[in-house]
Amino acid sequence: SIVITGATGQLGRLVVADLLAAGVPSGDITAVARSEAKAEDLAAAGVRVRVADYDEPGSFKPVIGQGDRVLLISGTDIGRRAEQHAAVIDAAKAAGAAQLAYTGVFGGPTADFLLAADHRATEQLILDSGLPYTFLRNGWYSDAPSFTADLPGILERGAIITSTTAGARIATAPRTDYAEAAARVLREDGHLGKAYELSGDAAWSFDEFADEVSRQSGRRIVHRAVTPAEHKATLVGAGLPEGFAEVLVDVDAAISRGSLAGTPGDLSRILGRPTTPIADSIAEALTRAE
Ligand code: NDP
Repeated sequence: SIVITGATGQLGRLVVADLLAAGVPSGDITAVARSEAKAEDLAAAGVRVRVADYDEPGSFKPVIGQGDRVLLISGTDIGRRAEQHAAVIDAAKAAGAAQLAYTGVFGGPTADFLLAADHRATEQLILDSGLPYTFLRNGWYSDAPSFTADLPGILERGAIITSTTAGARIATAPRTDYAEAAARVLREDGHLGKAYELSGDAAWSFDEFADEVSRQSGRRIVHRAVTPAEHKATLVGAGLPEGFAEVLVDVDAAISRGSLAGTPGDLSRILGRPTTPIADSIAEALTRAE
């Protein structure tokens, strides 16, 4: 079976849909969810649904079988994820899984920001396990909460607010592109022992992002660069926990250092086509916002 954890999340659902679209029989796909209710539509599509939780170490044992190809989609509890992911890695090892693919972060062991620590530790656990691995080191999503997913907020404020320095660039791709790549490394051969640095083909600046939103929306949108302290205060003011606000401000510092601007081309090579440009993601989000 092809086992997908986080299958009820945004990326996971796209991976399952891509596998089905590529002709993988629904009965050969196992969607792992924390709650059966959230996976009802997947079960209705014929996909095997199993319930397990990263916080319950034994819960993945009955889910993963010998020869399975497993996609471990990283969780959301920043700072606790390596220990949570160990539940999946241990179960895959015990079962004799044929592949463990993991959605890490762009830069892998060299990623120099707070958010990357869990991913570094998880990759190390996977290497230590001796499992055949594929590292999907995902760059930022074009449709991440601070980019096109925030278009309604950006239009309302007339600005995208960051604490990046002038000219900082980031090479994003939409979740759909990363999901399609994940589906391919699961259903194709030749991806074992590989670490892919996945990012968009072109890196954009926040001024360019604002200009593109202006062009497409007909409204005047600017990039407002604020200090890290102001940025953090804005995020906390919007209701984010302080620790998470710090992590996001730290990401902007990493963007300023160029840590997320790399365009090695791994993503378009796996897809066999160019990645989806940021302008297309903006257009899609605008259609949804209207
Ligand atoms: P989502 O938040 O939509 O999905 C996260 C998935 O992880 C959900 O299915 C969730 O289950 C599952 N999950 C969380 N905690 C547990 C747990 N304790 N046990 C089992 N499952 C758990 O995120 P996305 O799909 O958008 O992104 C996938 C991952 O990529 C994120 O979790 C994060 O690590 C990373 N990410 C990367 C970004 C980037 O720009 N590169 C941006 C944002 C996230 P449930 O459906 O039950 O909630």
